[in-house]
Amino acid sequence: MHATFLLYLTAKHALGEINELNCVQNSSEIRTNWTREEAEALYNLPFNDLLFKAHCVHREHFDPNEVQQSQLLSIKTGGCPEDCAYCSQSARNNTELSASKMLEVQMVLEEAKKAKESGATRYCMGAAWRSPKDRDMRAIEMMVEGVKELGMESCMTLGMLTPEQILRLKDAGLDYYNHNIDTSERYYSEIITTRKFSDRIDTLNLVKEAGIKVCSGGIVGMGEKDMDRLDMLVSLATLDEHPDSVPINMLIPIEGTPLQDAEPVDPIDFVRLIAVARIMMPKSHVRLSAGRTEMSDETQAMSFFAGANSIFKGDTLLTTDNPEDSKDAALFKRLGIRPMGLKSCATAHEPAE
Ligand code: SF4
Repeated sequence: MHATFLLYLTAKHALGEINELNCVQNSSEIRTNWTREEAEALYNLPFNDLLFKAHCVHREHFDPNEVQQSQLLSIKTGGCPEDCAYCSQSARNNTELSASKMLEVQMVLEEAKKAKESGATRYCMGAAWRSPKDRDMRAIEMMVEGVKELGMESCMTLGMLTPEQILRLKDAGLDYYNHNIDTSERYYSEIITTRKFSDRIDTLNLVKEAGIKVCSGGIVGMGEKDMDRLDMLVSLATLDEHPDSVPINMLIPIEGTPLQDAEPVDPIDFVRLIAVARIMMPKSHVRLSAGRTEMSDETQAMSFFAGANSIFKGDTLLTTDNPEDSKDAALFKRLGIRPMGLKSCATAHEPAE
């Protein structure tokens, strides 16, 4: 028998087995009334049952072999007045990072163009502010407009916003606003004292009301308990609408911050959390964010199976390292994963065939 035909038969047989997976279709209704007890029950399922359930939900809404890629640029680094215990950019933490001015619009757009050429579909720009000053808003608008003209989605993370600032961003064409809730409401004051958990939720609600898509997630590995991680997911999954993007960061402890000696997160616990996020927020893009440099290829592969379908690409995030593009490309190739195009990024879609 011809070798190619044999390969075809083998592949057909394998695909047949995939189609026979016992996923109950349309089992993942969109709910915004999740409880901690339900989250805990999912989290404590036997690992294989949890992953199977999460993967079924994932296949129901996304092509399981596509991963969206965003790229992040710090447009204003350091000197932040907030006291986030994990952050190298807080002026209150004793890190080596010095404060710099906001980047010129042209420079930001040149970087965005490079990101597009290397495959990013969304350009995320972050500034180390408690909230933007009105005098900075025109430059911010020009950045959003420029990124849109390149044919990319735009995302900003600028801290808390006034309703007027939100409208200006909306009018400039901003697609996403990132505003992480970081952790549970209970644990929040252990990590940040210069603002309240409710401040974050208020800004998220205003952003959503203005018609800008919400990107909101958190960080694990800050000394929180399992219940804090689950409560963080419950807070996101009980917003009036689920965030369109849910970044789950694994802490990179930074010298000079109060969390410099934090214990690493168990990779199995991390994958469990990704799976619970996927089940509770079936149509959201769940993003592996900071911390991928410390994750093995196997942890990332399991996370993709559990429902993660977005990453940050590029060698740096705001200030911390990220895997090189070539390393990600090699992993995607080994896993048969394709970068998600803009159309698929915009909406969760029908089940993969
Ligand atoms: S996380 Fe953001 S708000 Fe907090 S200190 Fe860092 S830059 Fe400032």
